[in-house]
Amino acid sequence: MGSASCNDLPRPHVFLVSFPGQGHLNPLLRLGKLLASKGLLVTLSAPELIGAKIRKANSNISDQPTRFGNGMIRFEFFDDETQDSSDGDWYTSHLELIGKKKLPQMLKKQEEEGCSVSCLVYNSFIPWVCDVAESLNIPSAVLWVQSCASFSAYYHYYHGLVPFPTKAQPEIDVQLPSMPLLKYDEVPSFLHPSTPYPFLRMAILGVFKNLPKNMCILMDTFEELENDVINYMSNLCPIKPIGPLFSNPKVLSSNSSSSSVSVDILKADDCMAWLDSKPNSSVVYISFGSVVFLKQEQVDEIAYGLLNSGVSFLWVMRPPTGGLDSKTGHVLPDGFLEKVGDNGKIVQWSPQQEALAHPSVACFMTHCGWNSTLEALACAVPVLAFPQWGDQVTDAKYLVDEFKVGIRMCRGDLAENKIVVKEEVERCLLEATSGPKAAEIKENALKWKKKAEEAVVDGGSSDRNMQFFLDQLTFEEP
Ligand code: UDP
Repeated sequence: MGSASCNDLPRPHVFLVSFPGQGHLNPLLRLGKLLASKGLLVTLSAPELIGAKIRKANSNISDQPTRFGNGMIRFEFFDDETQDSSDGDWYTSHLELIGKKKLPQMLKKQEEEGCSVSCLVYNSFIPWVCDVAESLNIPSAVLWVQSCASFSAYYHYYHGLVPFPTKAQPEIDVQLPSMPLLKYDEVPSFLHPSTPYPFLRMAILGVFKNLPKNMCILMDTFEELENDVINYMSNLCPIKPIGPLFSNPKVLSSNSSSSSVSVDILKADDCMAWLDSKPNSSVVYISFGSVVFLKQEQVDEIAYGLLNSGVSFLWVMRPPTGGLDSKTGHVLPDGFLEKVGDNGKIVQWSPQQEALAHPSVACFMTHCGWNSTLEALACAVPVLAFPQWGDQVTDAKYLVDEFKVGIRMCRGDLAENKIVVKEEVERCLLEATSGPKAAEIKENALKWKKKAEEAVVDGGSSDRNMQFFLDQLTFEEP
């Protein structure tokens, strides 16, 4: 924003701070667009390490305020003083150290320029943002980017309210109020004593330590989707489901070109023309999100399963991005592409929102990240659940047993036999694309799409919750 005056900019000003992950940035940007559409000034801030990737992939990212609906949105990345986040444990605490120094400086600058911040909103893994907000006397809110069911699991774990798996009893099932029984491998895997990512458990639990300091907990879910657990948790803390942000018409369409602004960390390959060339409901879309990196052996099994099933596919094979477990790129079996011909397409990154909404997509083989889960539901696309870790295992449970829109392919990183063999891949692909099960899960998916649309339109449950937040903002403005 440089030294420009803020006099002409809209108010109130909401300052969003994101952990540098695609699954964190996407819902925060969607929230930013929604707030801007309501006439607010929104700044989206994230570490420069990811800012550089976002700028490279998206030419229309600017630190100048851009009109969006009745308000404005702009980006401000801060130097996280490193070129390398591959050691997640180190990076998470490094980011806290740097962020606690840089964020107050940025916020003070906003004030000096007449753009004082009315509210800070942050997402999971960076609970220290709440401490910064408190020290500067700025109201704060969390945008929880997982399901309410996962929120409940972390909440009950943090407060020691129900027994969870321990080293001595690693395989106990967990009964949380107003939720189906979770088998030990359906509980968010960061809560297991054997998780290889204890630092992520610590980061998430930090959010729960700071929970009472927030004015509310915004959630990218909707009341009709997780009715029982949302009702239960609403009695314990001020949760406000405002999703799916993805399908909010105010986020999707705006009369300004900034509606197309994205924070993708990779440039999407063109695949829409290829999808156009395929018959309706004939293609399986395959993506495991922005962090999961399957073993080469698993990639081989999926490739052979696809080949044997004959089902058309659009497969996102992400290059290694230096994340948690990515090292070298995947290779496809010899002669695979020749045998597949035009029946399949491999891309490095897809415009997933548009791909899922395309009529030729029949189902989605997904790692069940919460964004992918909501995007599938909001587009009425049934899933082949291929969870790996974290909340993905809980999302898979809900997709298959509660929302009834999916077929389970695996159980996640605690499963004994982690590799899904080609025969199983083939069987699941055929089951999800033709026959009575395919018809049943598609019908259920269509019901969720309708409910999702009803939640986000004016007067819907998510819209009302959003209005509650906006009313508080005006009230709490310093
Ligand atoms: N995504 C995308 N193109 C791809 C793969 C993923 O746009 O080729 C987006 C996807 O739409 C979703 C996000 O990346 O919004 C991934 O978030 P999710 O919570 O599903 O998984 P994570 O990456 O956090 O594990």
